[in-house]
Amino acid sequence: MKYKRVKGTRDILPQEWILREVVIDVVRTTAYSFGYGEITTPILEEAGLFIHSVGDASDIVTKEMYTLVDKAGRDLVLIPEGTAGICRAYIESKMTVWPKPVKLFYFQRLFRYEKPQKGRYREFSQFGVECFGSQSPTADAEIISLAHTMLKKLHFSSLTLHINTLGCDACRKEYREALVRYFLSFESTLCEDCQNRLKTNPLRILDCKNPSCKQCVADAPKIHPYLCDVCKEHFQGVLGCLDVLKIPYFVDYELVRGLDYYTQTVFEFISQDLGAQGTVLGGGRYDGLIEKELDGPPTPAIGFAMGLERITMLLETKRTELPLRTIDPMLYIANFGGNTATLSLQIAQDLRQNNMNVLVDLEGKGMKKVFETAEKRNAKYLLVIGEEEEKTGIVSIRNLTTRENKELEISAIPSFFLKGDQNEV
Ligand SMILES: [Zn+2]
Ligand SMILES: [Zn+2]
Repeated sequence: MKYKRVKGTRDILPQEWILREVVIDVVRTTAYSFGYGEITTPILEEAGLFIHSVGDASDIVTKEMYTLVDKAGRDLVLIPEGTAGICRAYIESKMTVWPKPVKLFYFQRLFRYEKPQKGRYREFSQFGVECFGSQSPTADAEIISLAHTMLKKLHFSSLTLHINTLGCDACRKEYREALVRYFLSFESTLCEDCQNRLKTNPLRILDCKNPSCKQCVADAPKIHPYLCDVCKEHFQGVLGCLDVLKIPYFVDYELVRGLDYYTQTVFEFISQDLGAQGTVLGGGRYDGLIEKELDGPPTPAIGFAMGLERITMLLETKRTELPLRTIDPMLYIANFGGNTATLSLQIAQDLRQNNMNVLVDLEGKGMKKVFETAEKRNAKYLLVIGEEEEKTGIVSIRNLTTRENKELEISAIPSFFLKGDQNEV
């Protein structure tokens, strides 16, 4: 084969799309029910947007961005995450003057130059929501409730909500110093990246996947003793609201998320079904991003994102519980000679106009092949039209399950299928 897929990318075939379509439908409908509107932003953005938002010490920016220079010399990237572009659009498209909160959701294709592994690709799709303009703990609880609602609708049962707070700039300053003091005594056991992070962003060490760093992290100081009153109260407010909504949670002091812009609440929904790759969805509050990093007006914000590949993979075992579209043909039409091929298309046209799945043999296959194909394609009914049927206008429709035949006029075919008459055959 001359050309192959680019490493880390994949082809999504029809059977997977049937499942993905249900996911998309459920999450979109749920987002609308919470007052969100859909937005699409470009896959290409300026590189600087991510350096300033995601953070120049993050793995995403330092190692994983697909960067390119266009013909005019612009530094561009294929976007590695969804939030920064939405924030850019929020400012640039003047959504800043809309009534608050502004609630947006998106489906986006993202690109990260990561080591490919099961369920993780260099090009992947994400569903995400962002809520701009509310500082209230109820905004945090509501967005968690949105995530919870859609995952339940998708028949996830063994889910745990992990939640933590990362504090604000004020309380984080002292915490940061405590972390640096702690990690300095382990400096030589930290990986090279974390030794650098000690200088640039010690919080990121908490998120390192390297086993020796993970060991050091276990006993590292936690943020909670350093929280200021505002942050403490906010976190308690969120938890109180979750109690009322009966959304069970686990306060996970070790939960930090790998992006620099998070403040206060961070959360993840973890599924037991997928072992090491348990996180199905994650998000958090990012009150400083729009004002401090993107020069927008002061805008508290919170959001989450969910990888569609992983969700679809998890749902593969639940196919029977989900309202999947059927792509099998209800009717297979074979034809032999004369104008029967054209007549077949004409019959199919009426049925297809009513969303019935109809497959027409376009090649004029032999009778044996016709039966084989109809069976392989899982067709329910078979209609064979020869010159005789064309002349008389009478055809025989065969139920391929019961093997019974029904004679009827060609003009009666639509009502046979569309009025449910076929149930009698
Ligand atoms: Zn604080
Ligand atoms: Zn490390």
